[in-house]
Amino acid sequence: MARLLVVEDDPFVRSALIRQLTEASHTVRSVGTALEALREVAQVGFDLVVLDLGLPDLDGAQALKMLRGITDVPVIVATARDDEAEIIRLLTDGADDYLVKPFSVAHLTARMAAVLRRAGGGAVAGEPAPSDVLCVGGLSVAPLRRRAELDGAALDLTRREFDLLSYLAGRPGVVVPRKELLAEVWQQSYGDDQTIDVHLSWLRRKLGETAARPRYLHTVRGVGVKLEPPSAEPPVPPAHPPTALEHR
Ligand code: CA
Repeated sequence: MARLLVVEDDPFVRSALIRQLTEASHTVRSVGTALEALREVAQVGFDLVVLDLGLPDLDGAQALKMLRGITDVPVIVATARDDEAEIIRLLTDGADDYLVKPFSVAHLTARMAAVLRRAGGGAVAGEPAPSDVLCVGGLSVAPLRRRAELDGAALDLTRREFDLLSYLAGRPGVVVPRKELLAEVWQQSYGDDQTIDVHLSWLRRKLGETAARPRYLHTVRGVGVKLEPPSAEPPVPPAHPPTALEHR
């Protein structure tokens, strides 16, 4: 658990971040401008700041410099531009790490754990508690370690597949709307259903199931997707009862 300040002006991204980070038992405060962020860090102690660089009041690099002028709290910058020169400049100017938008909260959580570990002392550091492993039937997912296993065998998942599985595993038995998956896993407020369908079908293949014969992943048409333990295998039909003929 860490005390976090999220600086993000997009209300949609912000509320998704707050919700998920709070669910991961962090204490989260959030502001939408650089000046508010400066005021917050001057008044409240934080373990880490997540700083969006596209803020309405100050240029991101400027905001980072001013922040560094008053505190050495670890800062992860979130940038919309995958621009190497810009990223190098930010890291030189005092950012501890960066994420290119859109990013998933699972990705942010992993970066946060690494930054806090380096900062020496965040409670996210070290091995996660056993409760940080989500178990659904024979499936276990450890979001911080980014490991997933099915019946004890490690699953080889891409980043997005892992994020999707991890998000669903945190809500077993709940039908998660597609819109929510786009927002929470893809960090997009809109998008096309095909993106989700394609990743679902890859994930299904790795879980050894198909849409026609689902075990863990269930698509609820027109609503969303749900992950739940497979229902018991249908009982093997009893052997044909002995006939009078066999008794003879
Ligand atoms: Ca922004």
